[in-house]
Amino acid sequence: MDRNAKIFVAGHRGLVGSALVRKLELDGYKNLLLKNRAELDLLDFHKVHHFFEKEKPEYVLLAAAKVGGIFANNTLGADFIYENLTIQNNVVKSAHDTGVSKLLFLGSSCIYPRNCPQPMKEEYFLSGKPEPTNTPYAAAKIAGILMCQAFHKQYNDNFISVMPTNLYGPNDNFDLKTSHVFPALIRKFYEAKLNSEPTVTVWGTGAPKREFMHVDDLASACVFLMKSYDSPEIINIGTGVDVSIKDFAEMVKETVGYNGEIVWDTSKPDGTPQKLLDVSKINALGWNASIDLSTGIKKTYEWYTAKTR
Ligand code: GDP
Repeated sequence: MDRNAKIFVAGHRGLVGSALVRKLELDGYKNLLLKNRAELDLLDFHKVHHFFEKEKPEYVLLAAAKVGGIFANNTLGADFIYENLTIQNNVVKSAHDTGVSKLLFLGSSCIYPRNCPQPMKEEYFLSGKPEPTNTPYAAAKIAGILMCQAFHKQYNDNFISVMPTNLYGPNDNFDLKTSHVFPALIRKFYEAKLNSEPTVTVWGTGAPKREFMHVDDLASACVFLMKSYDSPEIINIGTGVDVSIKDFAEMVKETVGYNGEIVWDTSKPDGTPQKLLDVSKINALGWNASIDLSTGIKKTYEWYTAKTR
């Protein structure tokens, strides 16, 4: 990618999009095309198409999506499937029609079957049913991957799809109802410490295992793949290491310096028992994650407390 190439980062205010912008700017890319929701409604095909015709971006990083944690996914399925299908349809079709050189579609590890062998290799895609708590979201992401592959096959469009693991970092959603577990626990333990609360309630049994990756690692992998990967086959991006929710909660508790007790609310769903990506494919290409979990918890805690102070 030429440093002066016009790059459209869709969703640049979110967790992933903002990390992509930080990384691209750090690497000297000067011609970033960024539009907030008021400036460009990605749910409106005509507006999106017109924008592509007018601006003619050379590269597209499709990081705009409706995302959320287990509660949001489980209760707002209609919004998740509709908005994600619509955004990706609008952006992918407009990119095709206006001759975009390369597009990167952000998938998710939840496209893999609920009972997938671990770690999850790319070849297990579509080998079983997704987890019920996030099937509508997974279905949209699966459709996005298949769409990029179909455009590649029929029109030779260079549209690639990457599968990130569970992400965290600056500009994450810290709303306790709709967020993922990572930001939720940072906030819960921090507020419990401030208010000297005797307990913190964590959902589920604590047994599920998740792989957490700092979003700056994801951004570095995406830029790496934009330069070096041109296959329509999906590629995982993760750390290759997972942790139980119980151990993760203990790590956050310790980092925050909270002295009370953890209470497990087993009326809340556990979701997928384990989600660990096999990252041998991207590692073999020469990319590895570099931010370990304890450093990432510390960095994110510092970011969150600075923001809320
Ligand atoms: P998932 O990876 O799609 O299941 O999404 P989440 O990040 O929302 O949840 C991961 C796991 O953390 C699930 O087993 C949740 O039940 C558990 N969990 C524990 N406490 C919380 C919490 O406060 N918020 C969320 N979102 N999940 C929690």
